[in-house]
Amino acid sequence: MIIPCSEKCFYQEEGLCTLTQITISSGTPLEDCPYYREKHNEKKGTKK
Ligand code: SF4
Repeated sequence: MIIPCSEKCFYQEEGLCTLTQITISSGTPLEDCPYYREKHNEKKGTKK
């Protein structure tokens, strides 16, 4: 399942949601996506 998404989300890539495990029963996942993750915090806060 490929979900078009324009959120600045960690899983969003080129306008598509790369999180394929997502389960959407109705409507759009964009507004209130439970899987939404901020993309910026991921690499900034973590230093390895
Ligand atoms: S997890 Fe949700 S917010 Fe993130 S890209 Fe997928 S659909 Fe969009």
